[in-house]
Amino acid sequence: ESSAAAPRASLGPRQVKEAVFTYVAPTPPGNTPQILAVSPLALKTLNLSSSVADDSTFLSLVSGAPTGFESTHYPWAQCYGGWQFGQWAGQLGDGRAISLFEAIPRQEERPEERYEIQLKGSGMTPYSRFADGKAVLRSSIREFVVSEYLHAIGIPTTRALALTLRTGETAVRERVEPTAVVTRFAESWIRIGTFDLLRFRGDRERLRALTDYVLEEVLKLPRAVEVNGGEGKEEENRYWRMYKEIVRRNAETVAKWQVYGFMNGVLNTDNTSVLGLSLDFGPFAFMDNFDPSYTPNHDDHLLRYSYKNQPTIIWWNLVRLGEDLAELFASENPDDPEFMANGFSDAPESKIQALITKAEALIQQAGDLYKSAFLEEYQKVFRRRLGLKDGKEDDMDKFFPDLLTILESGSLDFHHFFRTLATTPLFSTSISALTAALLGPDSVPKEVANQLKSWLSTQYLPRLRESQYPSASSDDSITPEQEVALSDELKKWNPKFVPRSWVLDEVIKKCEKAEKDGEWEAGKRVLEEVMRMVERPGEENWDGIDEARAERWC
Ligand code: AMP
Ligand code: MG
Ligand code: MG
Repeated sequence: ESSAAAPRASLGPRQVKEAVFTYVAPTPPGNTPQILAVSPLALKTLNLSSSVADDSTFLSLVSGAPTGFESTHYPWAQCYGGWQFGQWAGQLGDGRAISLFEAIPRQEERPEERYEIQLKGSGMTPYSRFADGKAVLRSSIREFVVSEYLHAIGIPTTRALALTLRTGETAVRERVEPTAVVTRFAESWIRIGTFDLLRFRGDRERLRALTDYVLEEVLKLPRAVEVNGGEGKEEENRYWRMYKEIVRRNAETVAKWQVYGFMNGVLNTDNTSVLGLSLDFGPFAFMDNFDPSYTPNHDDHLLRYSYKNQPTIIWWNLVRLGEDLAELFASENPDDPEFMANGFSDAPESKIQALITKAEALIQQAGDLYKSAFLEEYQKVFRRRLGLKDGKEDDMDKFFPDLLTILESGSLDFHHFFRTLATTPLFSTSISALTAALLGPDSVPKEVANQLKSWLSTQYLPRLRESQYPSASSDDSITPEQEVALSDELKKWNPKFVPRSWVLDEVIKKCEKAEKDGEWEAGKRVLEEVMRMVERPGEENWDGIDEARAERWC
């Protein structure tokens, strides 16, 4: 289907075989659309000036209207499958997302960077299955804000450039709701599910083509790398190298989610990026009161995608990818023409067994890599939030678990705890006052307060002092200037603003009211305010924002 000559309206949902994408045009808006927000961070990444939003072509682009480009640059929707809640779900695909083109921002420092610009909510595609191809304003606001927020706090993610209201167009969800389009971008939208589908179809040819594309064009890994230099030189299997890279990236991203209390809520393989990007924002949430078993997904009764299970489940997804790629990475010579045509299907049983054993061993090796990459990143980012420059041997056995146990047994507000560490002078405040500030206004069992006092005075503060002021002797006091410098450093890693679900609900309510009344400006204003906080979440206050509202939201 990908060789079709020109894009056209979708022929309707169907099974699309022998293809990894289909050319399909967005459905033009029926009325005049309204751009509600443009992300300043996204403009920066794409090397665009903010005046671009005043251009009428931009409005067409971000609302799904024809721009004239589509006569030469055909929009497309991707075909993928996925494991959903542990079950193979068959073909899924971009049911309401359409990619427009690839953009090269030509940033001096990153000349290679290239982004696939995509609309979400611009109409049906062959992959819409039983749904309408639309996105409601509510979920579009959530995706728009959280993509940019995750980027702002240094977590790899797909991005959002613009949020556009399709005025007068509705969709029926829990109720009749206004619809919108999010213009999103990512270096690639390929996910584990893209590979899963080709394996399930037994489509070796496309699986290999996809793999080589991801290897060279997406991950930009060299095709050939020699291992064991000198004697016994050999080429490392490139598919194995690619798998390890995808494993490492995902390990690092999930480690960051854990340290920042972010939960995706639906970690199916179709929502797991090969670039390790946070991807697909449905029922996501940031942790409020620390509860490792929490999931924002109310349908997830088994807590499969709860906070504490995220690292395990991402590994589960990566094992599915390992199975998709096993034939390629366990092969002695993946470029042998016989193998390319038939894989191992004609090989004798004993040979197949040997290859399965080898593939299993390799996946296990990747598991060790996943674990060590996760632990390294987790500790690095966690320590950074605490202002500690170096780690200790038993950090994962004692130091972090002790803290997390306190947060859990006191049901403490996760972000409030870290932000308070950043804003309290840690060495000139008494332990009782510091403890009280960290515990916050809600009452907490006395043992928890005592455990926290003990963690602060016997574990954390001595280490922080040693780490930050290695040359200070034990009776030197830390000066107010030193306290301010430390606080400034900690604020960078411990945001004041977190887009919690109830904050997003307030933004949504105001925007929905603005839509209902036809008062676009009111919607634009609240989104501009929230995006200012998203852009610099570590600040103490923000220019041009209603102070009372900012205080309440933080
Ligand atoms: P998700 O649960 O968001 O990962 O979505 C699973 C699949 O359903 C993906 O293939 C989506 O593109 C598709 N999908 C979700 N909502 C819609 C919709 N409103 N219209 C068409 N397809 C949808
Ligand atoms: Mg999805
Ligand atoms: Mg989704």
